[in-house]
Amino acid sequence: MAGAVGYHRTNGTLACEGVPLPAIAERVGTPCYVYSAATIKAQYNALANALAGVDVRLHYSVKANSNLAILSLLRSLGAGVDIVSGGELQRALHAGFTGADVVFSGVGKTPAELEAAIRAGVKTINVESIAELETLNVVAESMGAVAPVALRVNPDVSVETPHPYTRTGEHGMKFGIPDDQVLDVARSMRAMRSVTLVGMAAHIGSQIVRAAPYAETAQQLLELCNAVRSDGVTTLRYMDIGGGLAVSYGDDEPADLQEFAEAIRPIAAASGLQLLMEPGRYLVADAGTLLTRVVYRKHSGGKEIVITDAGMNDLIRPALYEAYHAIERVEPTDDRIVADVVGPVCESGDFFGLDREIGNVAAGDLLAVRSAGAYGYVMASNYNTRPRPAEVLVDGPRYAVVTAREQYQDLVRLEHLTPTWSDASCASD
Ligand SMILES: *Cc1c(COP(=O)(O)O)cnc(C)c1O
Repeated sequence: MAGAVGYHRTNGTLACEGVPLPAIAERVGTPCYVYSAATIKAQYNALANALAGVDVRLHYSVKANSNLAILSLLRSLGAGVDIVSGGELQRALHAGFTGADVVFSGVGKTPAELEAAIRAGVKTINVESIAELETLNVVAESMGAVAPVALRVNPDVSVETPHPYTRTGEHGMKFGIPDDQVLDVARSMRAMRSVTLVGMAAHIGSQIVRAAPYAETAQQLLELCNAVRSDGVTTLRYMDIGGGLAVSYGDDEPADLQEFAEAIRPIAAASGLQLLMEPGRYLVADAGTLLTRVVYRKHSGGKEIVITDAGMNDLIRPALYEAYHAIERVEPTDDRIVADVVGPVCESGDFFGLDREIGNVAAGDLLAVRSAGAYGYVMASNYNTRPRPAEVLVDGPRYAVVTAREQYQDLVRLEHLTPTWSDASCASD
């Protein structure tokens, strides 16, 4: 939470910028996600300033938080986007980005998604396998187009991330083209008329604190760029080093931007290419809070258990990644308790924190689950037929509901109480 410039306590009460969180809970209800625009701006500017003088474009990784208002805010700051699906492409275009702002990543892009990307005129399609490249060539040819390709390299760089599920850059993982195959793949492109090689890309994982794995990765990309150039390729324009910069969730370290920039700067300069980055979490995690109300408290097996109206369906990171989120009582108190803070979902993995010291709470009190702006709402589900929460953007003294709370009718809208049967023997449909 080191970068959470948007949160502070006024008279002891936790506020997001100029808006006390109880006011939002009162008017919007709980659970809800609250985002600080000032924090997003500060994080964006800190990264952009650290890289001042480098020819760089920050392509925000939409999957971290894809709310249209957040996308629009990042667009106004000068960001492009990194997308991983056709749906995210539509969102990006809806938010006002053009194809030229878009880098398209992802290990399993379908022909339909590739076609939509070509039609939108995206900046690069980051291809992750020879099979994808061949499919892309066929799709582009059928459209009479030439698709701009960056090869996503799997550099076999291992990083220390808090959980193995957030590592992506080692051989044997599903991501990228193993570095020792990249030159062959690049050479195979000579025989393909509808794809052109414009860059080298990598994304080695998420919540990366140290600069060294980035430097190692960028160096590999540089060497691969030089190798394909000496092979006669003259079309390279981009070196994309992916996302993954760490934020601090508690007393852990965030990425050191100066150290990162110093490591990358000379490699970017030597490449003569535009540097692309795909930060997701770094830009939005600290901006977000999951605001929830205590429903019940109970005592079991010598433990205090605090049950909130938010559940793992709203924020799955603790269950999925054993992720730590700081939890705070919104209103001040000097009285402390140690408790498990859990949700109402019928799963033992449904908790936000175990054995946490928090302010003494009773039913009706508000809790803030901090640093929930990335991989929070976007991973929310309707498990237990729970409507997804509202999302609220705060900007100085004002706030706006940027996603309405789901209602029961939204959850069953696509369902049919009475099946309309089709006869499978009529093979024509
Ligand atoms: C998820 C992802 C990112 C963003 O990762 P963060 O850790 O949120 O910065 C960037 N690039 C690709 C290809 C991704 O899949």
